[in-house]
Amino acid sequence: MADRDEMLQIDLCDGQVRVMLCETTKTVQRCADIHGSTPVCTAALGRLITGTLMLGIMMKGEDESVTVSLKGDGPMGTIVAVADHGHVRACADDPRVVLPLREDGKLDVGGAVGHQGRMSVIKDLGLKKNYIGQSELVSGEIAMDFANYFTVSEQQPSLVALGVLVTEETVLKAGGLLIQPMPGCPDEVIDQLELRSPMFADISREMTFAPIEQLCEDWFRGMNPRILEKTPLDYRCTCSRNRMEKALISLGRKDLNSLIQEDGQAELVCHFCHNCYRFTREELIELMNSAGATGGKE
Ligand SMILES: [Zn+2]
Repeated sequence: MADRDEMLQIDLCDGQVRVMLCETTKTVQRCADIHGSTPVCTAALGRLITGTLMLGIMMKGEDESVTVSLKGDGPMGTIVAVADHGHVRACADDPRVVLPLREDGKLDVGGAVGHQGRMSVIKDLGLKKNYIGQSELVSGEIAMDFANYFTVSEQQPSLVALGVLVTEETVLKAGGLLIQPMPGCPDEVIDQLELRSPMFADISREMTFAPIEQLCEDWFRGMNPRILEKTPLDYRCTCSRNRMEKALISLGRKDLNSLIQEDGQAELVCHFCHNCYRFTREELIELMNSAGATGGKE
């Protein structure tokens, strides 16, 4: 068993196909521990985390990140993941939704997320302009929604499999696969991939039998799979006291003043990691004064 989560970037058929294959078991477990999520919500968050990490791996710059939010009509509300080149964090409006299993015995992820709504992808490219892509949810099962996003918003036909195998409290396996034929890829190669696609469908279960490097060998035998890069993955939040101070300052003098008058203190809890930041009355007054000095909005 791999001692760390990892993303493999692979090419097939001498670069005619780009593949990403990853294990995210520990990352998803960490997310489940933080949020105390129910199995169906762990599965939804885990699939979103895994898909977002694939987009995150494409971001190379230090200040670059990608935010994927799914705003469906299901009981989980909006779920959000933010990733950079190997790190991810996520949250949901309600991570404790309980739903009966589907008729086929699987977790009803689509029911928890909702079958209708929007998926949005915001790429923060540091100093450069942000890129925003939006698409309708196709199923709320998330893998198909990512595939649809790539096809519609990035004009890149893609096969996506995302899976989380979870018991009441433990994530047994989680991972994902993204297959993207490059422009000019021959039809025979695409046909081969489609023929093999049932092998990838239940990816988290497949991962209980073999590590991902072995799966790569097995699934793409005869297509010359080459692992180009391996990147460690983990759950990491970027919140800090400094950021929370900035958020408080951005409230402006008036709101800060009423916070001081009414509560006499503030407690800010990070949505992504549940770290709690406490501010005393004196600290809030200091922040209010600097809000004035930096011209925070009135
Ligand atoms: Zn945090």
